[in-house]
Amino acid sequence: MTVVQVASEAVPFSKTGGLADVAGALPKALAARGAKVCLFTPAYRGSAKGAVEAAKLRVPLAGAELSCRVLRAPLGGADAYLIDHPAFFDRPALYGEGGKDYADNAERYAFFSRAVLEACRALKLAPTVFHAHDWQAGLVPALLKTTYKDEPSVRGAASVFTVHNMGYQGLFPNSAQPVTGLPPAAFSPEGAEYWGKVSYLKAGLAYADVLTTVSPTHAREVQTPEYGRGFEGLMRSRADVLHGVLNGLDSEAWDPARDRSLPRPYSAKNAAAGKAAAKAALQKALGLGAAPDAFLVGSVTRLDAQKGVDVALKAVEPLLSAGAQYVLLGSGDPALEKAAKAFAAGHAGRAAYTSRFDDELARLIYAGSDAFLMPSRYEPCGLGQLIAMRYGTLPVAVRTGGLADTVPPHGFLAPAAEVPAVASALAEAARAFGEPRAWAKRREGAMAPDRGWGPAAAKYLELYALAEARVPRPR
Ligand code: ADP
Repeated sequence: MTVVQVASEAVPFSKTGGLADVAGALPKALAARGAKVCLFTPAYRGSAKGAVEAAKLRVPLAGAELSCRVLRAPLGGADAYLIDHPAFFDRPALYGEGGKDYADNAERYAFFSRAVLEACRALKLAPTVFHAHDWQAGLVPALLKTTYKDEPSVRGAASVFTVHNMGYQGLFPNSAQPVTGLPPAAFSPEGAEYWGKVSYLKAGLAYADVLTTVSPTHAREVQTPEYGRGFEGLMRSRADVLHGVLNGLDSEAWDPARDRSLPRPYSAKNAAAGKAAAKAALQKALGLGAAPDAFLVGSVTRLDAQKGVDVALKAVEPLLSAGAQYVLLGSGDPALEKAAKAFAAGHAGRAAYTSRFDDELARLIYAGSDAFLMPSRYEPCGLGQLIAMRYGTLPVAVRTGGLADTVPPHGFLAPAAEVPAVASALAEAARAFGEPRAWAKRREGAMAPDRGWGPAAAKYLELYALAEARVPRPR
């Protein structure tokens, strides 16, 4: 088995969200289990430091041929290949700026997908299975079954497609058809067409041999109108190949005992002292009152309607007048950023908002907070709550998707992402925090489980074998 992972972001090269954590960690976990595995991801600005040139390609795109360099960098026991085409990827951001997507995203990710397939030939990788992630890689399973089906370097390769977020569908006007490299027949309601548009996500969902979402609960949810986002029918029709595999955590990258961003790294044994030091540093850094006993609630998230930040601000407010503190780190939707800024200004010394992507501050928040607030409206898996628990910070979240699968029995769940429900889950957490011994026990319980990638990697290896078995062997 030779596995090619395809993802539009991956730690340590690039990151906007949880996909990058998964795409960076899974190849290493698979390699540790003896699989031959590599990862393809774009070479964004500044992301390819230390990578060396492995191949030069010409990549077909909409009747033209564009040049491309493939760079190689080590990734644990796996190889990472970075697709380098500066006109598409050497930009200030990954997908867009100022709340607007880049206008040529259809071209950028069609190019990326084709470059991966062309690179397999140039590098003689002989893959037996592709694992493509999210809409940016959705064309890969579709190209394998159509344009590349007789291409000797990838013929007979199976594909697994993981949807990390159904809300991002890679929808483009019909004029994008030629850009995709797919034949006209692929743009049927059974294929990559979606109500007169082209959907890169649907291309992946329709053509891959095996589909996965990132938690068992969400695999059920996406078959319903509430969560399927228009694709629930397709998901139901493919239910026989749809699986839910819970994400792991990169236990080296997220380890409070080895985290250099913390003033005093800690493990479960000395969590009280380590967390107190982080809390003091966090309060100082963000201009909050120095209050060791205040109930400190933190959030680290993209500012998107999905994440319920509007709900968080309203639900946390009553606690602040009772002496609690709230810190929020995240950027995104300008309207939510504005609301968060106004909230922090209205609660100076008790609430702080930081609007940027900042890995170090995120780590200090995970460690220095008592509770981690994550009132997502939907959550395919969610990493924030897993990181929080590893750092001994108890999640207050909503019973949905991966949160429902991972938060109990350690954290607190609201039945819905609504202000009264979330406020009452927060109040319950605050009451529990008021009993230090029981709280410390609960914190220890949250830190104890091994949340590493072992079980997920084993499950994916099974699914790769299943996908391979579904593809007829080439002559
Ligand atoms: P999603 O993938 O939907 O954004 P997840 O909870 O699965 O949500 O993963 C989010 C990841 O991104 C976590 O590792 C979180 O710490 C990180 N993150 C989100 N926003 C920021 C930010 N502003 N600064 C640093 N890290 C962030």
